[in-house]
Amino acid sequence: MNLIFLGPPGTGKGTQAERISAELKIAHVSTGEMFRQLANEGNPLGVEARDNYWGKGNLVPDDITIGLVKERLKKDDCGKGFILDGFPRTIPQAEALEKIVKINYVIDIESSDAIIIKRLTSRRQCENCRKIYGIDVPPKLEGICDVCHGKLYQRDDDRESVIRERIRVYNLQTKPLIEFYKARGLLRIVNGESPIGQIKADIMKIAKK
Ligand code: AMP
Repeated sequence: MNLIFLGPPGTGKGTQAERISAELKIAHVSTGEMFRQLANEGNPLGVEARDNYWGKGNLVPDDITIGLVKERLKKDDCGKGFILDGFPRTIPQAEALEKIVKINYVIDIESSDAIIIKRLTSRRQCENCRKIYGIDVPPKLEGICDVCHGKLYQRDDDRESVIRERIRVYNLQTKPLIEFYKARGLLRIVNGESPIGQIKADIMKIAKK
């Protein structure tokens, strides 16, 4: 099963991809997470992507992103299937993807701007195991990861000014993918404002068809 999770930033793609990939035993491929990890490791490409693009709310150029995903999809853990979380984000990325793999469904998780801003400004991530917390999934102890007791931090791009830029970029560059995938009969829409468990159930229903 090869799935794409589409939708604006902060709509819950990462949280749902984490849970559903575990349940379906398929790989979770998050390009945002790949960029953050490269930057954390001090990798020059990762640092450049942070300083010039994602730290400012802009997209990393297509050639870099497509190259990264092509390599990632060759890894063994993608053999049984994968969830692409945050890729593709532009039409050229979707066209490049079409040439390398078959996609079963594109799940568009929709939420309003007001909900997105509320979710993203309260989002925290574990700097150790990368688990995501927020208003819907608060940690038991503030600032501490329930799973590994690592420290929770706020992503650089989850500040309100950067969030607004990310929403603008989404509407301009990523939203056209909705029509792209609708035309191919792959698009399925899920309400991202439902409770987390309901969103997961809605996605599982589609994936199991
Ligand atoms: P995310 O964690 O999916 O919100 O991604 C964080 C940031 O990484 C985005 O705001 C972009 O700057 C960059 N990024 C992630 N995925 C892509 C992509 N498919 N194309 C270009 N930039 C990306």
